[in-house]
Amino acid sequence: VKLFVPKESASGEKRVAMAPAVVDRVVRLGTELSVQAGAGAGSRIPDAAFEAKGAKIVKTKASPLKSADVVLRVAPPTAADIKGMKAGSILASFVYTNRNPDVVKALAEAKVTTLAMELIPRITRAQAMDALSSQAAAAGYKAALIAASELERFLPMLTTAAGTIRPAKVLVIGAGVAGLQAIATARRLGAMVEAYDVRTAAKEQVESLGAKFVMADIKADAEGGYARELTDEEKAAQQAMLEKHVAAADAVITTAAIPGRPSPKIISKAMVESMKSGAVIVDLAAEGGGNCELSEPGSTTTAGEVTICAPLNVPSMLSEHASEMYARNLLNLMELFIKDGELTLDLEDDVIKGALLTHDGEVVNEQAKQILE
Ligand code: NAD
Repeated sequence: VKLFVPKESASGEKRVAMAPAVVDRVVRLGTELSVQAGAGAGSRIPDAAFEAKGAKIVKTKASPLKSADVVLRVAPPTAADIKGMKAGSILASFVYTNRNPDVVKALAEAKVTTLAMELIPRITRAQAMDALSSQAAAAGYKAALIAASELERFLPMLTTAAGTIRPAKVLVIGAGVAGLQAIATARRLGAMVEAYDVRTAAKEQVESLGAKFVMADIKADAEGGYARELTDEEKAAQQAMLEKHVAAADAVITTAAIPGRPSPKIISKAMVESMKSGAVIVDLAAEGGGNCELSEPGSTTTAGEVTICAPLNVPSMLSEHASEMYARNLLNLMELFIKDGELTLDLEDDVIKGALLTHDGEVVNEQAKQILE
């Protein structure tokens, strides 16, 4: 089985879909692994580090892409990349049909079998392949650090000869994988943390990290451990309940998301106006438009005395470890469909079936089909 890891082509993408720490296990599956020269540069991985573990470094992209049975990427391929792939080959990558419908159509037309990493089912057996979780953990950690560095205050309580400093109050909205990591990181830095989510299971997880759960009478659990979109009444009730917590916070970190939908707008302009001078919002939902009405995805802006950070592709800011975790997710996935140097893709396997986006000339995922209609 020929594997190829190209240099990422998306602008600002520093991650790479392979790491030296997993190369030998990938090769032991019976694969011939080629990595494009410079692919690891954004993650501080020199070509020689891949080579030392048994990967072949290739200078150009066209011919390894054409002959590869499996292509591994982080961000979706370009139209030219897809044209350069072999019919029947397998692509494992984040794709996000809602943002990249044309990519999905092109993959189907090129008869590429696409395993979309964002579609890996959230089941126990697939946890080790769950790239959404590994990358969200990196993003949540970084969000807490961004909040800490933007604030002109300490996070921890300090007792010094120059007096006692009160700890900062951090509010985390959306306590999924990213939110929980943001809570844990802010707690480690000594902040007083409150958190809120619409899923019932979140309360216990938030409390186990030493944060206070902010209660509301809304239960919005949906399939697969995700949340559903709120009704207009629920949204209004949520905002009324959150108002005083937002106003009291030094930093608000938002991570609320609904799969395949724009981010819910939770922090209104009026709520921002009620915040303290010097307060900071870190909006991790910027990728889907943001949880704050005033967020400008990709930028840091100010509204009055409040700083609003809405960074994009936050896992890429932690490219070294984000790449390593992603590469391990890919290895665990490939173990399902490469055995003793043979491709053994079982379309009835729950994980493969869940992640399968295009196959044999068709878009096969139901949600993606609806988006493309
Ligand atoms: P996500 O990125 O889709 O959403 C982030 C969080 O936002 C979620 O916790 C969601 O409940 C919350 N949210 C949505 N709308 C909201 C609103 N209006 N107000 C407040 N919060 C809102 O989700 P995620 O972090 O990828 O995953 C969510 C959960 O799925 C996890 O916490 C976990 O329980 C479960 N999960 C299970 C597995 C597994 O079993 N293998 C793997 C990963 C995640």
